[in-house]
Amino acid sequence: MADVNITVLGAGVVGLTAALVLSQHANFKVTIVAKHMPGDYDIEYASPWAGANCLPVGKPGTILQRLERDTWPELNRICKHVVEAGIHYQDTVIYNRAKDAKSVTGEWLNELVKQDPWFKDILPNFRTLPSSELPPGIDSATAFTSVCINTPVYLSWLVGQCAKNGVILKRGIAAHVADAAVLHHTGNPADIVINCTGLSAGKLGGVMDPTVYPGRGQIVVVRNDPGVMSTISGTDDGEDEATYIMQRALGGGTILGGCLQSNSYDPFPDPNLANRIMRRCIDLCPALVSSPSTTSSTSPPDISRLSIIRHAVGLRPMRKAGPRVEAEKISGVWVVHCYGHGGYGYQSSWGSAREVEGLVEGVLGRVERAKL
Ligand code: FAD
Repeated sequence: MADVNITVLGAGVVGLTAALVLSQHANFKVTIVAKHMPGDYDIEYASPWAGANCLPVGKPGTILQRLERDTWPELNRICKHVVEAGIHYQDTVIYNRAKDAKSVTGEWLNELVKQDPWFKDILPNFRTLPSSELPPGIDSATAFTSVCINTPVYLSWLVGQCAKNGVILKRGIAAHVADAAVLHHTGNPADIVINCTGLSAGKLGGVMDPTVYPGRGQIVVVRNDPGVMSTISGTDDGEDEATYIMQRALGGGTILGGCLQSNSYDPFPDPNLANRIMRRCIDLCPALVSSPSTTSSTSPPDISRLSIIRHAVGLRPMRKAGPRVEAEKISGVWVVHCYGHGGYGYQSSWGSAREVEGLVEGVLGRVERAKL
């Protein structure tokens, strides 16, 4: 089979996973070109800031639901068999307040908080909590097993897997998506460019997708152990504020979140919001401040008992219609788009990569037929 040159533009979780899947084809010569790489922390680079866990939010029949459904088996496999990838299982509880259903976070989490969601047969140990187990103010709750990913470890692991398969990683900035074709490591132009530029797809030449926008997320990373991973449908502090808690694998700390602030590019943590996030997380999970290893037993059960590693902000690459995964010829170059993964890029990464692979095979078939 003839060699096929592919440039993947972007080294976030979406680009790295796509490159890894493509590199499993012996005749695909894959170059990753990116402005930011794992190890960088930048407001234009979403992947390092994510929690990250797998809490499906795609509504039935949407592309997001399909991508999430097709990602879980691989996350589960890696979690079970590849300890160095930085993923571990977490007991998970999702709390729902009926009054949040129409709020910004309520809309985001509508599917997740259902008592009968589509993923109940996919994520292990799914059950609905009896009303006797519900805390005050909670209308319903579910529990299941999911995963939490130590994102710096996992992104580095993906880089290593790519390198092992012969993928070449290069720094570069493309002003136009078609320019990425000439950045292929062989010196010959790429046959196909995979556009995994996340939020930057809104300003990348040849793409300029006007429906892409930031969903600002602010988090506090702490040393405290919550015991379980938990999320609630909303808060009383503002409808774009959220409360979620997850502990990363391999000592990566516990992420306290958060918010979903549309169209805000502000890269600086807001100290007042940080205080609200910490207060709400302790209310949701008092166990956070009862562990003797990270707290002083003499201090009261308030935010002073959180041992803070850092405050941080990331921008989720939102897109109005959800992720875009499709092929298009731009300025004479075949491009497979894969961007717009909002707050669900990890939990939809493997499904996205498999769809990219299918689209690449489809493009190659069209090119071959055109030669006949
Ligand atoms: P990015 O990680 O932003 O990567 C984009 C890449 O493209 C970068 O390498 C960048 O340098 C490159 N690039 C862009 N333009 C150019 C150019 N012109 N030339 C060269 N390179 C370019 N998801 C989950 O699944 N679970 C979670 O629990 C979760 N929690 C989150 C919490 C927070 C606070 C945030 C901010 C996000 C969270 N997410 C979560 C969402 C997840 O982080 C994103 O969906 C995901 O990181 C998007 O990955 P990406 O590869 O598309 O984009």
